[in-house]
Amino acid sequence: MRYSCESAKEDYDSDNSNPIKCKGIFEINSIEEENFSPKSQIKNDKLDNNLKEESSIQLNLSNYNLLYPIVDSSFNYAGNYENYVTNVLSSIIMLDLKIEQKEKEESNKETLRNKIKNILNDSNKQILLLDLDETLIHADFEGIFKNLNNYDTIINFNDENNNYSVGIFLRPGIYDFLNTLKDKFDIFIYTASTKEYANSVVKFLDPENQIFKMTFYRKNCININGQIYIKDLSIFDNLEKIVIVDNSLYSFMCHLSNGILINSFYGDKSDIELYSVLNYLISFVSNCDDIRKMNEQFFNFKGIMNEIKKNMENNQKLK
Ligand SMILES: [Mg+2]
Repeated sequence: MRYSCESAKEDYDSDNSNPIKCKGIFEINSIEEENFSPKSQIKNDKLDNNLKEESSIQLNLSNYNLLYPIVDSSFNYAGNYENYVTNVLSSIIMLDLKIEQKEKEESNKETLRNKIKNILNDSNKQILLLDLDETLIHADFEGIFKNLNNYDTIINFNDENNNYSVGIFLRPGIYDFLNTLKDKFDIFIYTASTKEYANSVVKFLDPENQIFKMTFYRKNCININGQIYIKDLSIFDNLEKIVIVDNSLYSFMCHLSNGILINSFYGDKSDIELYSVLNYLISFVSNCDDIRKMNEQFFNFKGIMNEIKKNMENNQKLK
């Protein structure tokens, strides 16, 4: 997350009438392919390799030119926020994505919408969607920390073929975060992971079923060429009441103004990002009329994207 709550508040208070620009930070230079690290290739993590569960909505991008590589969310680390945001937004522009969904998918969506309505039961709270991996927890599928014996827990789950036992790091502040927010928001988990894995993590985090209203999985995401999983916020009515916290900007690329981008978490015990997000949610989001406007004032993703677009067009004209 770019702003600590304090700096965000200062900026917000100093000029309440105008949207906050990311002052001087997002100086958009010409977007050259070299700006992307050669390492910015999507990597299929072990989970993806081991547990294939395709999302219900799949798009074939054979008609699109994938001129730019997809930027991996491991590049969303503290200190690299601006680079990450600029590169992802640039790649989204290059994708020029138009999502067309088929009738069948629309009817699935309708079923999901009705289910959500029943669960919410006329609640007028705002809705908080939380990503799981590298946002709330890190699962050590690679076993990198296995010998250090410092996991917060080990979860076990199985799919039809295999049993898994995976060490989990909880992001510092996770229980403060969830317990403070559960009275102010209706909270859902929205993960691009598989159902079996996600359910076992959710059960550990919320054994009494007191925090999360429901979990959405990979099958509820829009899958682009097996590379990007987009979380489909249009399954909710009233987008002005929806906020998603995720470590990947692609997750909410279709609803940029609904998203809070948090740095990726890989087990750092000194991480304080959840506290920053908690402060922002409590101070600014929980009582606002339209979360999208508030987020735009703070994070300005759409504004940045427009700047990049303009810059690209100008560069094009100069050629
Ligand atoms: Mg994630």
